[in-house]
Amino acid sequence: MEAVNLAEQLKTNGGETIIMTESGEKSRIPIRKGLWEQSGEGDVRLIGSSCLSCGEIFFPVQDSGICTHCQGDRLEVIKLSSQGVITSFSVVYQKPAGGFYGGPIPYSYGFVKLPEGVKVETLFTGCDLEELEVGMEVSLVIEKLCENAEGAEILTYKFQPVKIKGDKSNNVHTGGLNNETN
Ligand SMILES: [Zn+2]
Repeated sequence: MEAVNLAEQLKTNGGETIIMTESGEKSRIPIRKGLWEQSGEGDVRLIGSSCLSCGEIFFPVQDSGICTHCQGDRLEVIKLSSQGVITSFSVVYQKPAGGFYGGPIPYSYGFVKLPEGVKVETLFTGCDLEELEVGMEVSLVIEKLCENAEGAEILTYKFQPVKIKGDKSNNVHTGGLNNETN
């Protein structure tokens, strides 16, 4: 077995070395190292820090090692829940200035609140942008964001709607039926 464990590779290489996928065609690079960890098939978790003094949770990890909430310096690296709820989002129809975003347009980004209480700023995927709603349950995925100049895939974390069994009460208005015609 020579299966390439992407997460292991990224950990070993500090996320900075370009690695090849099984196909050998595209390299895949995380947009930033240390944002997430993948153990086994599909089990992806964001990496945050937890303040041992006040309990505040941060994402991403506080590189300073200092809790911005209580100034404590005892921070522990933790794996965060991979499912949360959308608390706000925006849809962007024009490529933002500054060159920090190289992905597809339009796109949607916003905040997802995890059970730990931390809000994660994220891109959304896996559905039409019109389907997004505040309060919607979403789960973590790792996806291609764009390609760099060398053609390598830049990976980032995103959240996508959790598929619920088609049990939503049908309260969609059928357009026009209630309109009065003069
Ligand atoms: Zn603290």
